[in-house]
Amino acid sequence: GIKDNVEELGGVLGGRGGEGSRILVFVRLRPMGKKEKDSGARCCVRIVNKRDVYLTELGNENDYLRLKRIRGRHFTFDASFPESTTQLEVYSTTTAELVEAVLQGRNGSVFCYGATGAGKTHTMLGSVESPGVMVLAIKDLFNKIRQRSFDGNHVVHLSYLEVYNESVRDLLSPGRPLVLREDKQGIVASGLTQYRAYSTDEVMSLLQQGNRNRTTEPTRANETSSRSHAILQVVVEYHVKDASDNIVNRIGKLSLIDLAGSERALATDQRTLRSLEGANINKSLLALSSCINALVEGKKHIPYRNSKLTQLLKDSLGGACNTVMIANVSPSNLSFGETQNTLHWADRAKEIRTKVCEKNEEILPLPESETDQAKLLLELQKEN
Ligand code: ADP
Ligand code: MG
Repeated sequence: GIKDNVEELGGVLGGRGGEGSRILVFVRLRPMGKKEKDSGARCCVRIVNKRDVYLTELGNENDYLRLKRIRGRHFTFDASFPESTTQLEVYSTTTAELVEAVLQGRNGSVFCYGATGAGKTHTMLGSVESPGVMVLAIKDLFNKIRQRSFDGNHVVHLSYLEVYNESVRDLLSPGRPLVLREDKQGIVASGLTQYRAYSTDEVMSLLQQGNRNRTTEPTRANETSSRSHAILQVVVEYHVKDASDNIVNRIGKLSLIDLAGSERALATDQRTLRSLEGANINKSLLALSSCINALVEGKKHIPYRNSKLTQLLKDSLGGACNTVMIANVSPSNLSFGETQNTLHWADRAKEIRTKVCEKNEEILPLPESETDQAKLLLELQKEN
């Protein structure tokens, strides 16, 4: 069961820190859809032992041992989730520990990567009946905060943004594209809504509304564009008085990222009307691929500046951050090529090493005079 998985992974995550750590990489296989079944699609992906993924081109291959020897057909990940895996299992295995770390003032990020229709948005956002990682993370965060409310004050802010066609948009307050600028905390989007969240209840509808604000393809009004990247940022600030009566200010950021369909990174028809859009989406995903390549190869220069997406994800890739990647794949043999491509990239991402994940913690010395001290404390309490 999941418990074994979590414990097993506890070891992996527990080994983070020290000399930096690697990205944890998971694969999630979605169930076959009705349309696919009806059109006679066969399952070409098998998951064995919660880790091993076998790709069988014709969907009728059972000889795992033989596949094991064929490059590009057998992959091993930190965990692999078969069709039957629940949203909660995916959350607990991939993200729960990152939420705990965010409360300690460490950054974390979870990416969903994969072709359009592979299950990224289901995994990240999900539905009211079956909420995904974004919602479960916030729910867990509030539960954990409630359990610790006796020792300090937490403030939670949410931002939800989109990168589409190399412009950055606020999904909680749609309007003009946002400008990126660099400040001491890294790259920030100027004017981005920071929604102060008090409970889980409001969050699902907020995020669903945000998701509806994602750019849609002009020709298919009800479908979210497969070219849009969505990023949810959850910032947790925490104030506490330490033993010497200093105020400790701790801040942790969790980024949950629903990437655009990865097939765009491979196939772009330059001659279509949307060639510009296509080229731009290529730009963001290709830039992400080059950053991953550069990180894997241990290069000094990582080309984050090449796209809006990589600028925004700089902290989440090479920075001091716990990073998790979930590669979503379809079981259908009709998606064999895309699935193979997704697994190939996921396999490569295992090589990325991130920097030591430090705590973002600052000790504010109390002012000398008692009245100023009292004022500051009052202000901090008011914030909560
Ligand atoms: P993507 O965001 O990668 O384009 P979606 O998340 O929209 O893909 O998934 C495509 C379809 O498959 C949706 O109808 C979604 O509800 C369904 N789906 C995806 N993953 C699962 C799953 N694990 N269980 C049940 N249905 C799923
Ligand atoms: Mg989607």
